[in-house]
Amino acid sequence: MKKHNFSAGPCILPQEVMLKAAAAVQELDGIGLSLIEISHRSKEFVAIIEKARSLALELLGLENKGYQALFLQGGASTQFLNVAYNLLENKAGYINTGTWSLKAIKEARLFGEVIEVASSQEQNFNHIPKNIVVPSDLDYLHLTSNNTIYGTQFKSFPDVAVPLVCDMSSDIFSRQLDFSKFDLIYAGAQKNMGPAGTVLVVVKEDILGKVSRKIPSMCNYQVHIEKDSMFNTPAVFPVYVSMLTMQWLKDLGGIAAIEELNEKKANLIYSEIDLNPVFSGIAKKEDRSNMNATFNITDDTLVETFDKMCLEAGISGIKGHRSVGGYRASMYNALPLESVGVLVDIMSEVERKA
Ligand SMILES: *Cc1c(COP(=O)(O)O)cnc(C)c1O
Repeated sequence: MKKHNFSAGPCILPQEVMLKAAAAVQELDGIGLSLIEISHRSKEFVAIIEKARSLALELLGLENKGYQALFLQGGASTQFLNVAYNLLENKAGYINTGTWSLKAIKEARLFGEVIEVASSQEQNFNHIPKNIVVPSDLDYLHLTSNNTIYGTQFKSFPDVAVPLVCDMSSDIFSRQLDFSKFDLIYAGAQKNMGPAGTVLVVVKEDILGKVSRKIPSMCNYQVHIEKDSMFNTPAVFPVYVSMLTMQWLKDLGGIAAIEELNEKKANLIYSEIDLNPVFSGIAKKEDRSNMNATFNITDDTLVETFDKMCLEAGISGIKGHRSVGGYRASMYNALPLESVGVLVDIMSEVERKA
């Protein structure tokens, strides 16, 4: 039985993407060779990565605006240091909204002065800081748009006079934003785009080349841009699957269409959490994430019943992260509304049993 996959990452991908990806591993588009046994410099693969790069810019509405899209390796975690390597000369500002922000801060401190412009750490990251005042002497401001572990999400972004850098790993392509507000966006593929193994970096070219240090080639965004994202062998399979997922999204109507579905899914689960006394939300209401809903059971004696019913219904991946506890339902782009419906039905059934 196909399960209802609420995994936080790596996560659910569209079924039709899975089928195409599986077929391409056997044979790519009738060429008599597998996707994963051809040269990355073959015309077939060059066309794939170029399509992936242009689809990323197209979906974000960033074509012909001075941005470049790269598919690199080392995950979002390598971008924690690459961002600072390439942009931090004197001082950078970070908004600390969770584990991933903290990891980004830790790496940046290797390269220069880092200040926490705002933080929600004292309340175990259950909200997004408000009324953020951003100093104007920063090399850049870094924030994490969606906090995968805690289930919070920036609904609006501070207006800043300095370059804005955003880790969008867990909500890229999930909602409409004015992406031109950002100078650098990065996202590990495995939350909303593809399998683990590649990371999307979208960078405005004119913010690069301003630091005085020497940057090793593999960490240097300008080198990757000059080499068309092929400085070294790209992660061919993850790039291909990401391209298929972006094409799927475009055919669906782009980010506007998926945002509508994502809002339906989020409204469905959050209205159940709010109305059902057996469950309580963990994140502050106004900051809750449309991608990762975190919640607790208020009555410990019902945990076993709920877990058993979820198991029997084929619900997978809703255990909360160890640093938060409780439950976390991740509802990335490819998760159907029906899966959320199945979970919500179980929640109301548990209430009837209480
Ligand atoms: C998962 C995640 C990461 C880490 O991504 P890796 O590709 O494993 O390095 C970073 N930031 C956010 C917001 C995430 O959700």
